[in-house]
Amino acid sequence: MVCKGICIRFKATGRSINGGRYIEGQKRCQRCDIYITWNVSVFCPCCGTRLRYKPRNGKLKLKFNEAKNEREQAEVLTI
Ligand SMILES: [Zn+2]
Ligand SMILES: [Zn+2]
Repeated sequence: MVCKGICIRFKATGRSINGGRYIEGQKRCQRCDIYITWNVSVFCPCCGTRLRYKPRNGKLKLKFNEAKNEREQAEVLTI
C-alpha cells in the first residue's frame, strides 16, 4: 500500500473547477496525493487505495444527490 510511481502515468491533466474533476471521471488518490484519470475501478492502480470520486463541495454534492434521487425515483416507477 505504497506509492510505486505508477500513478504518474495516469495523472489527470488540465485545470478544472473545484469538484468538476470528479464529474470528468477523474479520481483523487490521497496516498499518492494526485488526481488521476482512472475509470477501471475505484482503487488506485498504483497503491491500491480506494479513490475519492465524489465531490465534497456542497453545491456539487447536492447536484450529485439530486441525480441519484431522480434515478431512484425512476426505478420505483418502473416497478
Ligand atoms: Zn502512486
Ligand atoms: Zn495511489
